[in-house]
Amino acid sequence: MFELPEYVVLSRQINTTLKGKTIQRGQLGNSPHKFVWYNREHEEFERLTQGKVLGEAWVQGRWMSVPLEPGYVLLFGECGGKLLYHPAGSQLPKKYHLHLTFEDDSFLTATTQMWGAYELYELGEEQNREYIKDMRTTPVESGFTYEYLDVLINQLLEGKKRSAKSLLTQDQIIPGLGNAIAQDILFNARLHPKHPISELSSEQRQALYDAIVSTVDQVIQGGGRYDETDLYNNPGGYIRLMDKNALGRPCPGCGGMVQKFQYLGGACYVCPNCQD
Ligand SMILES: [Zn+2]
Repeated sequence: MFELPEYVVLSRQINTTLKGKTIQRGQLGNSPHKFVWYNREHEEFERLTQGKVLGEAWVQGRWMSVPLEPGYVLLFGECGGKLLYHPAGSQLPKKYHLHLTFEDDSFLTATTQMWGAYELYELGEEQNREYIKDMRTTPVESGFTYEYLDVLINQLLEGKKRSAKSLLTQDQIIPGLGNAIAQDILFNARLHPKHPISELSSEQRQALYDAIVSTVDQVIQGGGRYDETDLYNNPGGYIRLMDKNALGRPCPGCGGMVQKFQYLGGACYVCPNCQD
């Protein structure tokens, strides 16, 4: 699944390659999928997108908005899979959940794996969509300071008990992060996924803050994670530190053995020497 850094990379590539192109024909998917969320019927989508020009894309957490000017915004939300640009003359993929053809005969397709939203809103209405409305500050915004995170953690201590992994991956507390990047953030912060946030020292809070910001930045600089592909179908250049491939390798911190366990709806990869 795309996480915040992959969305940032995709939005930049859209702005480089697709901005200013005019839609000749916009189509929803040819492959029904229970967990693909649309808010328009096929005909309506085609009618509303025809002749629209792609504007400057932007990202909020795991939601990317691409203006269709004038007057509309196409939302890509919480998707994974492929979001691909195809130069004129390319072959159309067999299965897709979205297909925009431009007047120069190049086209864009989106094909998600687990789930994802492809929704068309009148400009501004997308801000009322569930998950976007009232979204908290994301790690690529200037408001995401150490003081912000410190206050956020203090507020959370009044609610249910949370671990470091829960802080990173549940309830959109820090929007845009997911199971993949959380592994590397926790390793970089030298924190165990189950470490209760109520027991974070101020040094650990600072380490966690630094790890969130620096890891997100590294993945963006790398062009996304190596296990996702970009707009041109190239794999990202960021090699994950802690994933299934780390199991057979020595820990990059101490050379010890990396361990795997299931926790909070996904696998965790942890060095018990380095993370506590
Ligand atoms: Zn280690």
